[in-house]
Amino acid sequence: MTSAKILDGNAMASQIRSEVADGVRELKERGVAVRLDVVLVGDDPASTTYVNMKRHDCEEAGIESKTHRYSADVDQQELAALVEQLNGEVEVSGFFIQLPLPGGLDAMPLISAISPAKDVDGLSPMSAGRLSVGLPSLLPCTPHGVIQLLKRNGIELSGREVVVVGRSNLVGKPLSQLFLRENATVTVCHSRTEDLASVARRAEILVLAAGRREMIGADYVREGAVVVDVGIHRKEEGGLTGDVKFEEVEPVASHITPVPGGVGPMTRAMLLYNTLEAAKAGAPF
Ligand code: NDP
Repeated sequence: MTSAKILDGNAMASQIRSEVADGVRELKERGVAVRLDVVLVGDDPASTTYVNMKRHDCEEAGIESKTHRYSADVDQQELAALVEQLNGEVEVSGFFIQLPLPGGLDAMPLISAISPAKDVDGLSPMSAGRLSVGLPSLLPCTPHGVIQLLKRNGIELSGREVVVVGRSNLVGKPLSQLFLRENATVTVCHSRTEDLASVARRAEILVLAAGRREMIGADYVREGAVVVDVGIHRKEEGGLTGDVKFEEVEPVASHITPVPGGVGPMTRAMLLYNTLEAAKAGAPF
């Protein structure tokens, strides 16, 4: 057994952020501003932290950002009106609604109303449908981040046997679509999959997005597989871990993403990437 190559999401994300900053500068030179708006409802500490991190990322890349804050008892209609307003504001390149929304609010109708051209989270049914039928669209940040991390590390996807564990609208489903688009042979697993270990062992590229702390040991991994761990779990003793037992799996894999420092930073970088893409598409020339 040899040690796996670590797929360094921090380094790759930093490269993407710098490419985005160059793109933003070029647009600005042509008189086009790039702006990302955020809708933040309630005072959930995790959501507030995420929004602050995203604002900081924008600042670094030269992207303007504006946060629309509402208290948790805001009316659904008021948020719907804001979505319509942001859809129509030419200076807003893209926007997203920080999830989850507080109880009593229904996120799906709001997300569904976001114009596909401004849907920088890529999570609206319209964006998902466009991805599924092969039309251009803004891609969901985590799945797109996974694909970029693999491709930019020179990992061939075409014709490879890929197993994705998880079928959420946020990660598993769009990721399986993206792998298909890259001509991989894709199997999608979920909580009803029987004998997950033997299905997972078929994978040349194994992606874990089940949200189950350290559920994947060496017995799930084919020798030489590329292992991508999307899971994020806070440890009681501090720090983060993923869906994978890293110490056990790393010697079996050829490549592996760490947690933290793997998929997480890529997700953040792809939001900036999408904002630039939206601004380019909306530019008048
Ligand atoms: P969800 O809970 O929405 O989906 C989990 C999926 O995993 C479901 O499809 C579920 O199956 C499946 N699943 C759950 N348990 C098992 C099991 N024992 N065996 C096989 N499949 C199982 O989670 P998300 O997709 O939103 O997130 C997944 C993980 O990724 C979480 O840890 C989350 O924190 C992390 N995450 C990380 C991001 C990053 O940037 N790194 C971004 C987004 C999420 P079923 O459909 O049958 O219920």
